[in-house]
Amino acid sequence: MDSQPSSLADILSALARGATVITSNQRAARTLRTLYTQHQQASGQHTWQSPSLLPWDAWTASLWQKLLQSGTEDRLLLNSIQEQHLWAEIIAADDTLATLRSTESLASLAAGAFTLLSRYGGRDQLKRAANTAETQAFANWADRFERRCRTASLLPPSQLEHELQLAIEKSHLKLTTEILLIGFESLTPAQTNLLHAFQHTGATVSLQDLQTTQPTTENLLTTAPTQQDELRAAAQWARRTLQQSPAARIAILAPSLDDDRTEIDRTFREILAPEQQDIANAAPAPYEFSLGSPLASLPMAAIAIELLRWTIQPLPIQRISSLLLSPYFGNTTAEQNIRAEFDAFILRQSKLLRPELSLRSVINELNKHPHLATTTALLAALQQSASDQGVASTRKQGYGEWMESIRELLRAAQWPGTRTLSSTEFQLRRKWESALDTVATLDFTGDRVPFTEALTALETSLRETRFAPQSHNAPVQIMGVLESAGSLFDAVWFLRGHDAAWPPRPRPHPLLPWQLQRKLSMPGADIAQSQQQARAIVQRIRHSAPQIIFSFAEQGADGPQRRSSLIAELGWPQQPAILEAPAPAIIETQLVPDTDPLPALPDRVLRGGESVLRLQAACGFRAFAERRLWATELDTIAIGLDASQWGNLVHDVIRRFWAEVKTQANLRALPEAARTTLLATCIHAALRHTPAPDTPWDEAYLETQQQRLRSLLSAWFEFELSRKPFAVNLSEKSFDDISVGPLRLGMRIDRVDQVEGGIVLIDYKTGRAGIPGWQGERPDDPQLPLYATFAASGQHLEAIAFARLRTGNQMKLEGYDAGNNAIPRPAKLKTATLDEQLDQWRNILIHLAEDFAAGITDVEPKQYPNTCKYCAQRLLCRLDVSTLQLLDDSEDEAEDTDG
Ligand code: SF4
Repeated sequence: MDSQPSSLADILSALARGATVITSNQRAARTLRTLYTQHQQASGQHTWQSPSLLPWDAWTASLWQKLLQSGTEDRLLLNSIQEQHLWAEIIAADDTLATLRSTESLASLAAGAFTLLSRYGGRDQLKRAANTAETQAFANWADRFERRCRTASLLPPSQLEHELQLAIEKSHLKLTTEILLIGFESLTPAQTNLLHAFQHTGATVSLQDLQTTQPTTENLLTTAPTQQDELRAAAQWARRTLQQSPAARIAILAPSLDDDRTEIDRTFREILAPEQQDIANAAPAPYEFSLGSPLASLPMAAIAIELLRWTIQPLPIQRISSLLLSPYFGNTTAEQNIRAEFDAFILRQSKLLRPELSLRSVINELNKHPHLATTTALLAALQQSASDQGVASTRKQGYGEWMESIRELLRAAQWPGTRTLSSTEFQLRRKWESALDTVATLDFTGDRVPFTEALTALETSLRETRFAPQSHNAPVQIMGVLESAGSLFDAVWFLRGHDAAWPPRPRPHPLLPWQLQRKLSMPGADIAQSQQQARAIVQRIRHSAPQIIFSFAEQGADGPQRRSSLIAELGWPQQPAILEAPAPAIIETQLVPDTDPLPALPDRVLRGGESVLRLQAACGFRAFAERRLWATELDTIAIGLDASQWGNLVHDVIRRFWAEVKTQANLRALPEAARTTLLATCIHAALRHTPAPDTPWDEAYLETQQQRLRSLLSAWFEFELSRKPFAVNLSEKSFDDISVGPLRLGMRIDRVDQVEGGIVLIDYKTGRAGIPGWQGERPDDPQLPLYATFAASGQHLEAIAFARLRTGNQMKLEGYDAGNNAIPRPAKLKTATLDEQLDQWRNILIHLAEDFAAGITDVEPKQYPNTCKYCAQRLLCRLDVSTLQLLDDSEDEAEDTDG
């Protein structure tokens, strides 16, 4: 069926004379309806007949409804979740195809393949063409699927057009009206057959190519240096266009909108609606995305699913944190801060073998904190409701009944919160309810299922249901390329017009034989056809507005990019995009000299010990933020023992061992079996402080840790025998109040050994560390120098060393000695004597302590970017990297001069 150019006026007058207008997508139908209303009002009408204007799927469904009402049909037209459910059942019952894909994703693929086959008339040819394990498996599933539909009187949506055609041929359906099709790039064979059938009943059918009648003002191909610049140029252009013509209708088209959506949103918000950076500003933005996001990805729905999942299984701590901090659960206005404190200081600091907690165990923990009574009561109500509904039991019931249970559970948890919902939240809530109703339609099979199955079905449905807040007819509409079919604009900007993105790469369907897909010209089957379709789209877009701009970035994430050949064919002038300088900040920033003295430090021991000096050496601001403002990041809990828990465990076992053995001579005299038994006893005692194992997995994990400790520490004690004789004087000794310049610090020494002539200070290290960390004006690891110069003063120091508790040849004592080989193979001192080194350290450490006390808070990381890599203060310090480049350069120069 050939298309004919038409104007908006042609379409509106066709609607006025009673023609049926069918659009290829929902958006085009909505826009035309609005324009028709405006047209009627402009012509002075007060009342008018509602136009017959529908998107294709709604139109065919309404025709099916007519057949049902007339009694000529009684089959149930499946919705997409019902169809996928059938496919999933059929696939789950087939164990012939081994695949890594889940049943759920295969079911979705199978439904897609069946739709293509039905719409392109390939069903009869499938069996013969199937030549791989996947396509043959699909051919068998398709047989079973059709059998199932036949016996249960079901109709898959993909066969609707064919069934309507048969109904017309049997004279069960008749249309004599005028039918206009708008926004169809091409028609599938099933659509063509249906329309021909209508033509035979007397209907006139025409394919309309809606084109603007406004004269062309600009046709341009523009380039930007990077993809981000391309977005900025488009947003700035949209802003300029709106400033010149506030009533303009602007379309921004993106071939892969889902991939680009976040970045587009961020850039357009910054340029078109900077006032919305203030999250309290709820005014509508001048742009909107016409396609919504999956319901499951939106926080309000995601929180509901997390609450439901929590009633049947433990959740990872991070997800529990999101729940506790969410405004969509309980009365958060009153509770939010208290819950945040519980999350940061209790939950995240729990010692766990697995970072997951059940609802019951969190309630138990909450019960210990009376000020959290409201949250405790809320979770207890959820738990009670879960028990009443039997969600964790073997109870089976219909999907509809489970959806009612879900409503109950969420009511108990006061989802979605007790505050007044915003308009968008209210719409989302309605969409959620309709998703529950959709899942309830799975009762068409009469199956009774456990709660987990019903919940999984709901999750699938939420992933497939898109939600967009009701359109406020923003002047800038951001959409996918296909969505723009059937709409006219005043200006269009087509993003990502480079050769890797346009035309889209063909993607044959993996469950259908490739030859069959090509033979039937299915979409995505071959390059030539994809090119042809993409070319037709470019032609359609060029006639959709008087001003059209195609753009591409010269540099993409994977390297240089070229313009798409299909866009180059237009022969339009190419020029660099206009990139304006960033808009001035809304609030002008001022430089305020930081001259006010900080309040004096209180005269007491500072928390944090040596870390105060370590942080001051790394960056003055970081030390200030972490040790005076106490700005810290939230702990994250990983699976099993983390590095610090492992280090503490190793320390504890060694401490217990030397508390018994005391000297190297005793160790040497200890028979091997006795040493092994003592080590096992110490390990056992130390492990008593780890969380009790709950599951066989926990037990196996702890057993592995015991073996790891046994093997590491037997080797270590063997190594200790190779040293000169020693006695362990202090093992893990704390000093509560040591003065370092103006500071009072507490510190703990891992170990002090008495050797001939003096003492050896030892610091255990299970991770990476090295003596370079002791050196320089800003030492990375000042802990041992601090002990050596302050805690151990008054005793003769023979050596200081890291004890590297790592397997293989990394196991050693690494440090400096006073020249008497108190440790094996000491490193060469940077000073003439160890005493001289101690004096140097003392001066450096006092200097750092003075800087901290004086509030030297310069944002000056020791080594950018390494110092900043894991720093939690990045938001607070507002690091200006451009000043660091100067610092780095000047340091390089200084080094060169020293050199
Ligand atoms: S991010 Fe870097 S500059 Fe900022 S506080 Fe941390 S270490 Fe200092």
